[in-house]
Amino acid sequence: MSDQTQTSVAENLGNIQAKINAAAQAYRVKTGIANPVTLVAVSKRQPVTRIEAALAAGHRVYGENRVQEAQIRWAHRRDHHQDLRLHLIGPLQTNKVGDAVALFDVIEVVDRPKLAKALGDEMIRQNRQLECYVQVNTGEEAQKSGIVPDDADDFIAYCRHEVGLNVTGLMCIPPVDEEAAMHFALLNTIAKRNGLAKLSMGMSDDFEEAIAFGASAVRIGSAIFGARDI
Ligand SMILES: *Cc1c(COP(=O)(O)O)cnc(C)c1O
Repeated sequence: MSDQTQTSVAENLGNIQAKINAAAQAYRVKTGIANPVTLVAVSKRQPVTRIEAALAAGHRVYGENRVQEAQIRWAHRRDHHQDLRLHLIGPLQTNKVGDAVALFDVIEVVDRPKLAKALGDEMIRQNRQLECYVQVNTGEEAQKSGIVPDDADDFIAYCRHEVGLNVTGLMCIPPVDEEAAMHFALLNTIAKRNGLAKLSMGMSDDFEEAIAFGASAVRIGSAIFGARDI
């Protein structure tokens, strides 16, 4: 690994972590709520040198959006880093559920009954109870996955009580052409009324704003690793 890659990834991680800490502190001052924020480093389509640099800097929480790509990148690294925590943040097909449950620690993309049921069955089969977030399509965009806000309460109840998933939070990806703030606020409202503590929202361009609306996990790729391949 080049020294330069190692230095820049480590520096970016440090800078982003400092901004996260400051935003979390501002949130605490404003609301009186101490809300720890997890930095999920999104490693999808990044070269191995940059991943190794982040690991060398001590970072352990990573997000991936494709099961197969994540397996290739992470399955063997688990042997050396038992404290890794891997979040699945991209759409999950039911035929990949077995691989996903075996590899990941948090499934952030539970978005339909068929998938919830498949995950529940698979977690029993593998005896692995993963944390699950329900993905909410706050912008009700046709091309985006996620349960629509009006159906969220019923779906969360279904996941918890009929499937037995360990639902701990919600996740959203706001529309690119709208103010993210209203989407962050909506996700927070849905989480509160369902007693969910975890909120995965905010990316490289808007993570500080997401923290101001109560994010507990921010998903940041390019601002840490630089532009992606392809
Ligand atoms: C790629 C991706 C990110 C990271 O995006 P950046 O703009 O690189 O920070 C966050 N969330 C999801 C769901 C993604 O697919």
